[in-house]
Amino acid sequence: MALLERWHALQKELGSADVKLLAVSKYAPDEAVQTLIDAGQKCFGESRAQHLRDRARQWPECEWHMIGPVQKNKAKYIGRYASMWHSCDNLEMAEAVARFVREKAIAEGVTAEDSALPLLIQVNIADVPNQRGIQPEALPAFVAAVTQIEGLKVIGLMCMAPQGRDAAAAFRYLSDLRDGLLDGRLAGTDPLELCIGMSGDYQIAVAEGSTMVRLGSTLFGDWDVRNQES
Ligand SMILES: *Cc1c(COP(=O)(O)O)cnc(C)c1O
Repeated sequence: MALLERWHALQKELGSADVKLLAVSKYAPDEAVQTLIDAGQKCFGESRAQHLRDRARQWPECEWHMIGPVQKNKAKYIGRYASMWHSCDNLEMAEAVARFVREKAIAEGVTAEDSALPLLIQVNIADVPNQRGIQPEALPAFVAAVTQIEGLKVIGLMCMAPQGRDAAAAFRYLSDLRDGLLDGRLAGTDPLELCIGMSGDYQIAVAEGSTMVRLGSTLFGDWDVRNQES
């Protein structure tokens, strides 16, 4: 199947479940990105800060979501160019990114609240040492701390299912963590979203209540694979 056919099929499948498709373009060439933009895709995910900056400048009409780890000297690219940050798991980095969001708000003459960067907190549900993400037991305090930072807006949780283990159980665990947080949240705040699911497990994620899936290889196909190898 060609790229556009896959995109249309995914749009139909996800649209009927009211799930947003984030096109993970980290390995995709510009021509593939342009093809999807022409078809109507608006949201793209990048895992490298500089790449995100470059593509956000090239296609400012689209949303560019940061899905990878951020180094401190790249925080400015996220604060200035990202429409959403999917992989927040470090307070120092959150402060660094927020500083650039606030700086941008001042330059644009808007309030930091109005231009707050929506973010997801990455949770390490796999119990694998060295895997990225906040440990579940540290999550409530981390959410509370990030919520206090001016210029950021916690809108949900994300995780990656542990390889070779039961993805449904992993996603359900994240969902339970979210529900636990919800009970402790202040009244008037929106419920936290679950942004889970990649190419190998997105259907499971949708069944478990995901609001946005991040799809790279199953969408971009050969293009994706070719660029990973080169
Ligand atoms: C690369 C990446 C994806 C997309 O992975 P596929 O399996 O190719 O769909 C999703 N989420 C994150 C955080 C990624 O880094």
